[in-house]
Parts: sequence; structure tokens; C-alpha cells
Amino acid sequence: MMSSEHVIKSEFDVLVVGGGPAGLAAALRAAECGVTVGIVDDNPAFGGQIWRGESDKVSSDAARWYSQLRAAGVQEFCGARVFHQPEPGMLLAEGTNDLFELSYRKLIVATGARELFLPFPGWTLPNVMGAGGLQAMVKSGLPIAGKRVLVAGSGPLLLAAAAYLRQHGAEIPMICEQSSRSSLARFGLALLRQPAKIRQGVSLHRQLSGIPFISGCWAVEARGLKALEEVVISHANTQRKTIACDYLACGFHLVPNTELAELLGCRVRDNLVEVDDLQRTSMPGIFCAGEPTGIGGLELALVEGQIAGLAASGHPESAQAFFAERKKLRSFARTLERTFALRPELRSLPRPETMVCRCEDVVYSRLAQHSSWRAAKLQTRCGMGPCQGRVCGPATGFLFGWSPDSVRPPIFPARFENLRAAACKAETEPSRLTGGCS
Ligand SMILES: Cc1cc2nc3c(=O)[nH]c(=O)nc-3n(C[C@H](O)[C@H](O)[C@H](O)COP(=O)(O)OP(=O)(O)OC[C@H]3O[C@@H](n4cnc5c(N)ncnc54)[C@H](O)[C@@H]3O)c2cc1C
Repeated sequence: MMSSEHVIKSEFDVLVVGGGPAGLAAALRAAECGVTVGIVDDNPAFGGQIWRGESDKVSSDAARWYSQLRAAGVQEFCGARVFHQPEPGMLLAEGTNDLFELSYRKLIVATGARELFLPFPGWTLPNVMGAGGLQAMVKSGLPIAGKRVLVAGSGPLLLAAAAYLRQHGAEIPMICEQSSRSSLARFGLALLRQPAKIRQGVSLHRQLSGIPFISGCWAVEARGLKALEEVVISHANTQRKTIACDYLACGFHLVPNTELAELLGCRVRDNLVEVDDLQRTSMPGIFCAGEPTGIGGLELALVEGQIAGLAASGHPESAQAFFAERKKLRSFARTLERTFALRPELRSLPRPETMVCRCEDVVYSRLAQHSSWRAAKLQTRCGMGPCQGRVCGPATGFLFGWSPDSVRPPIFPARFENLRAAACKAETEPSRLTGGCS
């Protein structure tokens, strides 16, 4: 059994999981209502994906939210990943050396989203990365100045990543967006109803001036001996071109992180956590805000977070002030979904030998023999590696139309002693996690 000095126990009226914009906004509004609030995030600092590394910068938006959060007395747990709920009202989070037992009366799930990766020949070569992933690595110190980075895939994140990489000295030969020119034109028209988005768009346009942006274009193969050397792109299904580059930054928009909400029993439909007007999920006392309820960007995450924080701390009437803004922003989220819907041609990118589950080395031809996620998982171990299907699950969803099984604990890999502690805590089913707790 794990020694008890490494177990840190805390109890809150409101606990928030996720320290991105939605979680920070939720925690702040709840704390301002006078209840005890804790917030936990698996990164070394708060800020989530968009504000990564910015919470300590003096003049950033992130820093403003964060300093208010500190002043409001919210208890912070950074670098701790929630992996299990051993009993109702308690979550376990693993830190570098500690296990946190976080008890709550109300819970706000604000776990954000991740990039969608689709397999194509060569996508597992070194230096082929997610667009947001490469941006995150540069934020963490990866030198990119002078490197040639081809940006490809789908969604607005490509533009944000390209602008960031260029600002840090990368050469961007082109940006390939799989969505068609007509879809993008409709998206442009829809932006006219969103002044804040127009401002962002104009600023990005300026930052990316001179870089060719090609619609209806996608990477079909990444090539290189030991690492990436060149990428073959297809344009309008007719022309093929080979581009020499040091990195390929490639992602196909975002996938909501719904695993924790699912583990807690919250209803999920079409890969989104269902919430009502007050961001309440189908489980009593559990709220959800930000990207798990729909991919809608920073402003929607902030608004949903504030509604959830106010509602969870017993002030639903104050939350109503944000409803009109949320409605407007949700319509933008629906436009995003339509614009960046994936074209069917992307299903035919993998060859028989293309790796699909890179944790367990499962290639496309082995998966194609099966008719469901469950059958493929049982026969090939697809989705049973360290990422627990976070990468190959959405990819096989797109390639084969499979839906993943129900989520089981632990939702992230955890150290053995922590799994054992979790099993002993739950008592009911000790053997599932570790084979027993005695
Ligand atoms: C890789 C990536 C890069 C992005 N870059 C940009 C950009 O440059 N510009 C832009 O406009 N938008 C960007 N976005 C989109 C942006 O993140 C969203 O629009 C929005 O800000 C989401 O806010 P959120 O609070 O819902 O989620 P997030 O900002 O994703 O925050 C969720 C947080 O929860 C944490 N978390 C999840 N599960 C657990 C768990 N079990 N235990 C503990 N912590 C957990 C995550 O690590 C994360 O820190 C990016 C998205 C991704 C995936």
C-alpha cells in the first residue's frame, strides 16, 4: 500500500478540472460567490492550450484572469492529472510525487480538446507533428528559427500555429487546408456577424502575408530516411506536388476531451457532453464548460466557464446575463463544424501498411478486417496503449465509422502505487485496476 504522506486530501464546494480559459473563468466566478474552490490541471502552469505559458506574462489576457483567480483564493493544483473517480464526489489526480484526493460538492469539467490526427503514409516519421503540438513545443523552448515548416490539415488552428511559428523565425512555404474554397467563402460571410473574429482574422491575415494559403489541399505522404525530408500534397484531387521541409505541422481540427465526463456517467451525444442552459450535465452536481461541449474557441470557453461557475456556486440568476452572448458564439461554433467537415477522400489516404495505432503498432490492413472498435481492440490491441485510444479512436471513427467503447478507469496511465491506492479506495472492484489491494 502506498505510504500516506504522499496522499494530499482536499475538499471543496466547487472543484474545477482543467485550467484553460473555461476552467479559469469557472473557478474565478465560483470563488467570487464565496464558496471554496479548487482547480486542477495536468500542465505545469495554467492557461490551457491557447494561453500555454502566458499566465505569468504581465499584460496578457491569461495573466489578468489568473491574477484575479489568485486574489479570489482559489486553491491551485498544477501538474496533476485526474485519472479516476473511486467514489462519487471524489477524484484522484496524480502529480509528480503525490496523489491528490480531491473531494467536491459540485464539479465543473473543463477538460478542453485535442487535435485530430489522421493516418497517411509517413505520418509517424520524426518531425511530423500536430500543428498545435509543434506550437506547444516551440512555446516550451524547441528552436524553430530557420526551419521550413509545411502547415497542413484543417481548421483555424492551422493559421494560429503558422502565425506563431513564423513569428518565431520559421519559414512557412504554404498552408494547405483540406476544406474547399466555397466552404471557406461561406465561413468568411458568417464571420461578418462576429466583430471580434473579424479582428482576429485581419490580424492573422497580416501576420501571414505572403504565405500561400491553398484550399482543397492536403498532405498525402510524408517522406524521409530517418526523419521528415519532404511532403507530397494533393491539390483539388488532381495535381500532386512535393515540398521539401524540416517539419510538417498537421492536424485536422479538434476532438473534445469527453473521457472524464463519460467516466463520471455524463451523457455524451455525437462526441459532445450534453449540457442544459446552466451548463449542467445529465449527472446531478456535475457541470461542463468549454470545448467538451463543442469546439467554439476562446470566447465561448470563457462564457460557458463563467455560466458554469456561477451556476455551480448557487447563482443561476447571475449566469443568465451570459446566455445571449453564448447563443451568438454557439452559432459560430456550428459554422466552424460545417466549414471544416472532413472530405471523404481523406479516408483513402492510409495504405495497407500505414500505422494507425502507433502505441501498439497496428497497421491499417489489420484494422480493416474488423467491423467494430471493440472487435478491433480485442483482436489487435488497437487503442490499448498509453494514449488509451485518444489518437487512434477518433481516427478510426473517421476511417471506419466506429464508436469507442464506454470509458473505464484509469482514463490516463497512472503509476502502479496510485492505481493500487485507487483500487483500495473503491474497494468494490479492486482487481480490475491492479489485481487486488492487500
Ligand atoms: C494543441 C492545441 C493548440 C491550440 N492553439 C490555439 C491557438 O494558438 N489559438 C487559438 O485561438 N486557439 C487554439 N486552440 C483552441 C483553444 O484551445 C480553444 O479555443 C479554447 O481556448 C479552449 O479552452 P478550454 O478551456 O475549453 O480548453 P483548454 O484550453 O484545452 O484547457 C483544458 C485544460 O484541461 C486540462 N486537462 C484535460 N484533462 C485533464 C485531466 N484529466 N486532469 C487534469 N487536467 C486536464 C488540459 O491539459 C488543458 O490544460 C488550440 C487547441 C489545441 C488542442
